[in-house]
Amino acid sequence: MKKFFAVLLATVLMLSCVAVFAACDKKDDNKTTADTTAADTTADTAPVEGEKAVLKMGTNAYFQPYEFYEGEKIIGIDAEIAAAIAEKLGMTLEIVDMEFDSIITAVNAGSVDFGMAGMTVTEDRLKEIDFSVSYANGVQAIIVKEDSAIAHVDDLYAEGASYKVGVQLGTTGDIYATDDFGKDNVTTYSNGNEAVLALKGGSVDCVIIDNEPAKALVAANPGLKILETTYANEDYAICVKKGNSDLLDKINAAIVDLTEDGTIAGIVAKYIK
Ligand code: GLN
Repeated sequence: MKKFFAVLLATVLMLSCVAVFAACDKKDDNKTTADTTAADTTADTAPVEGEKAVLKMGTNAYFQPYEFYEGEKIIGIDAEIAAAIAEKLGMTLEIVDMEFDSIITAVNAGSVDFGMAGMTVTEDRLKEIDFSVSYANGVQAIIVKEDSAIAHVDDLYAEGASYKVGVQLGTTGDIYATDDFGKDNVTTYSNGNEAVLALKGGSVDCVIIDNEPAKALVAANPGLKILETTYANEDYAICVKKGNSDLLDKINAAIVDLTEDGTIAGIVAKYIK
């Protein structure tokens, strides 16, 4: 059922992209100088003489290999793709770390220009923000303890089963699991690491989270494993404020170029072996 949803979503995404391209010449002219605050940097901001304009990305940097800290610096697949996009736009990338759950609000408030956080395109999110073309696929995976009674995704739905599920707040893992197993059986954490600590401590029976971060979490926490069966298949994309077709068109064009010249594949290969 989730797979069907993902296919449907991909179709919706493609259609919405077509719509976006059709609306290419429609500028985001709701914005006036009076609206612009110091924190409200947009792609249209004129650079100070001799300096490149800043392009601000909102993310949650606890999502290895897409965005994570190496010392003070945020690196990863999204961070590098975003830097390549900014370069194409002649801008300097600035990454702002925040709760995953705050990214859409920050994008719509204009405190960041776009959100990029291994963010899945969903119908509900499409009501709030616009998404770029997809740059990667994601899979919702299930992490359990090595000796867990849960061996297959179907076990979660078995007659009489009442497993406690850990998720990251506001993610698709959270949304789908709450839908499937009820709010009382789902505990939200501010990031995957906290959810995994809860699994190790026995407060939840499994963690539902994107597959690549799941691999990094399991590698860092002996005694855990990822089930071979998956929970959902998804598309990752960049989000911009609804109606900001100016920036969206530039981001889409950059993603197409960076896909065609192999840059995105090169970045992915660097982080996912
Ligand atoms: N792909 C998931 C989502 O969009 C999780 C993203 C994340 O935790 N950074 O909800």
